[in-house]
Amino acid sequence: LIGQMMSDPLLISGIIQHADRHFGGNEIVSREADGSLHRYNYRDCHRRARQMAHVIKHLQVEMGDRVATLAWNDFRHLELYYAVSGSGAVVHTINPRLHVDQIAYIVNHAEDKCLFFDPAFLPLVEAVVDRCPTVKAFIALSSRERMPVSTVIPDLLCYEELISSASDAYRWPVFDENAASGLCYTSGTTGNPKGVLYSHRSTVLHSYASAMRDGLDVSAREVVMPVVPMFHVNAWGLPYSALMTGAKLVLPGAGLDGKSLYDLFESEGVTFSAGVPTIWLGLLGYVEQNKLRFSTFKRTVIGGAACPPSMMKAFRHEHGVEVVHGWGMTEMSPLGTTGTLQNHHLNLPSEAQDAILQKQGNAIFGVDLKIVDDHGQELPWDGKTYGNLLVKGSWIVESYFKNEGGSILDNGWFPTGDVATITHDGYMQITDRSKDVIKSGGEWIGTVELENIAMDHPAVQQAACIGVAHPKWDERPLLLVVKRPGAAVSKDELIGFYAGKVAKWWVPDDVCFVESLPIGATGKVLKNRLREQFKDFRSS
Ligand code: ADP
Repeated sequence: LIGQMMSDPLLISGIIQHADRHFGGNEIVSREADGSLHRYNYRDCHRRARQMAHVIKHLQVEMGDRVATLAWNDFRHLELYYAVSGSGAVVHTINPRLHVDQIAYIVNHAEDKCLFFDPAFLPLVEAVVDRCPTVKAFIALSSRERMPVSTVIPDLLCYEELISSASDAYRWPVFDENAASGLCYTSGTTGNPKGVLYSHRSTVLHSYASAMRDGLDVSAREVVMPVVPMFHVNAWGLPYSALMTGAKLVLPGAGLDGKSLYDLFESEGVTFSAGVPTIWLGLLGYVEQNKLRFSTFKRTVIGGAACPPSMMKAFRHEHGVEVVHGWGMTEMSPLGTTGTLQNHHLNLPSEAQDAILQKQGNAIFGVDLKIVDDHGQELPWDGKTYGNLLVKGSWIVESYFKNEGGSILDNGWFPTGDVATITHDGYMQITDRSKDVIKSGGEWIGTVELENIAMDHPAVQQAACIGVAHPKWDERPLLLVVKRPGAAVSKDELIGFYAGKVAKWWVPDDVCFVESLPIGATGKVLKNRLREQFKDFRSS
């Protein structure tokens, strides 16, 4: 017996139509390259997205064609999210921090038909223009006045000029909700980047789920600022969930330093934000140095890499900002788990709550997870046993674009490459990425915990732990530390700091102080580069 309910397809155009019709006057504020603020509302955004849909059609983009963007978080990028996907094409957000060779590779692999870019990325686009034969049109996200005066890009088009000549009478086409809507490439720390091709259905379901109270808790009462870039897994879905719920949206543009972010938090009354730990390090540093307070900021999601306990404590206890630890991947749209308390935790002492919130958290409905041993046997949820983490669900990759890497599922589950524990009440905790785990004397040492402990030391700003070759034990942990400005600490003091906190054989053998750690395109420490750099290191 079939249910007798309407089955309107779940399409991304439905989100912007809803935002216009029900929250049309709600604001979108976006910082421009010159620092000024651009303001308009959902209704304006929808009108311009419809105009852009005409432009795209005029540029001969067909259903399923890929349209690339190289852009910061701003209103034009947002319009493209809706114009491109809404008209049936695929928005391919490219990370401008990738190496030019990687950018050329993914533009060709995706066979992008057009490339929209911020004028700030002109040199990058000029460096790849001759290597991208599939791209038939290059469009600068700019007004006529700010267009580059000279460029090697042939027939460079101007976004505002194209929009101003397009009609806003456009009807969003209705098609199968399984049609492709967006394309993101993994950052490819090993091998070539691989494309994850999202569908309208997966994106809309992910937006519903991520907006839930125990997800990112996005609602019409919030002022949402995605600091995570729109080229990093669609800013974790916030450009969709904010419009779906009617939240005010603040887009920070290129200014991701502590001062620029803080000013925007205060001037726009931001209540909720999301970003990777390295970004918050800059913000917290600025706020602490200048003895500032947040007046409206009350919650942030931190993910993409483990949030150090010291950072969580600073936000929660010094600034009264609730931290939701989120875990996910490009392959998961990205949300998998969020760390929030359950009702039986509400009366626990603050430190016990901190320990729970430090974990990556519970699966959101729509995602299931399990841990298995190397033979694929499921492991117990006891909070201690660690194993390879596998996931399945409605917004998780089934195969990579163009079937790169062949069949990637393991009996219907996607192997994440992460190693984790799960408690009896479903809290997952990442102990490591499988390629970063240190193998010492046949046992595993998880680097995340070692880094978290180091970052709890008041003199430590950032820490990374890697395995270095050892004649007897195979590998031993080496701790790399960036000191806080002006702070002093010795190697022995740091090693002593581990006493009683981890098993003796987990304690790093040595510490190297470094000026900075290499950070990749999505703001994470590049451990493969550190392993290469320290491969001949021997403890003295
Ligand atoms: P890339 O590594 O290519 O940048 P993603 O941005 O998709 O790709 O990163 C996904 C990986 O990031 C996860 O598999 C996991 O290792 C790590 N990660 C994400 N969130 C967290 C978190 N909260 N804690 C620890 N690791 C995390």
